[in-house]
Amino acid sequence: MWSLLVCALLAISYCYAEKIIIVGAGAAGIATAARLLEHNVTDFRILEAEGRIGGRIHSLQIGDAYVDIGAQYVHGQKGNTVYELSKAYLKKGKDFDKALLYYGSTMKTGNTLLDEFISLAEETTYTNVNVSIGEAFSSRYNATCLKKYKDDLKMLTYSHDFLRTIECIILTVDGAFSWNKISSMSNFKFQSGENFLQWDGLGYKTILDLLLKNYPQKTGYNIDNQLSLEKTVTRIILKNNSVKLKCKDGSEYSSDHVVFTPSLGVLKHEHKNLFMPRLERPKVDAIEDLGFDGVIKVILEFATPWWGKHDDFFLVWNEEKRNNLAKDIPFGPTKDGDHWLSWFYLVGTSPKNSKALVGWILGPMVPEVEKLSEDQMKTGVMYALKTFLGKDFDITEPTKVIHSKWYMNPNIRGAYSYETLISKKHDPSAQEALAEPITAKDGVPRILFAGEATSSHRFATVDGAIETGYREADRLLKILKVK
Ligand SMILES: Cc1cc2nc3c(=O)[nH]c(=O)nc-3n(C[C@H](O)[C@H](O)[C@H](O)COP(=O)(O)OP(=O)(O)OC[C@H]3O[C@@H](n4cnc5c(N)ncnc54)[C@H](O)[C@@H]3O)c2cc1C
Repeated sequence: MWSLLVCALLAISYCYAEKIIIVGAGAAGIATAARLLEHNVTDFRILEAEGRIGGRIHSLQIGDAYVDIGAQYVHGQKGNTVYELSKAYLKKGKDFDKALLYYGSTMKTGNTLLDEFISLAEETTYTNVNVSIGEAFSSRYNATCLKKYKDDLKMLTYSHDFLRTIECIILTVDGAFSWNKISSMSNFKFQSGENFLQWDGLGYKTILDLLLKNYPQKTGYNIDNQLSLEKTVTRIILKNNSVKLKCKDGSEYSSDHVVFTPSLGVLKHEHKNLFMPRLERPKVDAIEDLGFDGVIKVILEFATPWWGKHDDFFLVWNEEKRNNLAKDIPFGPTKDGDHWLSWFYLVGTSPKNSKALVGWILGPMVPEVEKLSEDQMKTGVMYALKTFLGKDFDITEPTKVIHSKWYMNPNIRGAYSYETLISKKHDPSAQEALAEPITAKDGVPRILFAGEATSSHRFATVDGAIETGYREADRLLKILKVK
């Protein structure tokens, strides 16, 4: 009892001194540490709020292999840092062309509408006009599909219902609650090669070991002594030429430099309390104007897999199925006449895993849907699977259903950053403003910013996050005059 009290008092009164403090042990934080270690800089500490490293990389062992409840795909090959480090452990990309598409309980073959809509989406995203993707897509849709199918009521209804599916695909890419919030202009740079490479059962967490040169053998950097878990930084104070950090548990640290890597969601929520003095414009504008909403991944484990050789299923809700929802699933949120489950649109397999399926729920109700109990989630998604696929598959009961809670997690508060109509007006870009370090009176950068949202061209990705960690480590190496 006394020793506990003494420890607590010591933690409160003692201020630990470090040369560099990295806040956050996600991809960006670990990349920063790895780069410093490569240059023999060991005088740093990582303060991580969670009890694990990885942040939005979180691989769970389900059945035979790891399944990712956060980042899952490696998007691109040429020039992709993750690909370069991990190509030996990746599996060929997902082939969504082979997905089965169910419209109500009917399997649609040929998927012509999917192809048609995907090319419309390609035309209306990454344009030169700053309108929302929702607006751009709808006007192209009106000019093409609506005209084409105007005398075919069946196709017209199908294509109208299909609009939700295409919105969900776009929201999966951008992580927004609505496609009306996403700018159709983007600085995001696609890399050539496969766009949906997956880890072959090892889980995305393997990238953290690869960064630290600890895979396939644990012979790389050991950061155990430099890593403090369950350390939530609550205050970052720049005074004279040093930075003081206060943590939720009462401990304090001082350092010459801080690399701040928490998400844009954390910044949106906390920046006014976190930084002393407060952050200035244009950084505050960037934080407020860039988008950061949420997505839900649902992982289902089955004792007996029932899906045969199929990998992915698109679920396209028709009016009848949507109308049944209020009666059949009388719990969970509704919004503008929509039931939360009508935003459950895709479910697919995970590599090397014969027992797990991963589903996606998108849209404006994500914050409320996250709050559903695991039992409610199981009832909802199983109802949907049986309604859509029950005629063709003998669907078994899952042994476990887990859903992600990234939005309600105070250490993340969402999914990944996206460009809004307002952030797109920033010049230089909002991401560049976010990445700008805070310099002390001596002219030396003292608080540095990394993390996916600070990447100008690869935001929203793991490789983008890693590049920003390297960028800020290189900045420090220059300041410290380390070769
Ligand atoms: C569901 C989902 C699916 C995704 N799919 C993909 C994908 O397929 N491919 C892809 O490339 N990317 C994907 N992403 C995006 C990718 O995961 C992120 O871009 C990347 O992991 C972000 O890394 P980061 O280091 O910038 O931030 P984070 O991973 O958010 O790391 C920041 C760390 O800071 C910690 N922290 C926060 N606040 C504090 C505090 N006050 N004190 C101390 N520590 C704190 C957090 O706990 C966290 O560990 C996905 C993300 C999600 C949520």
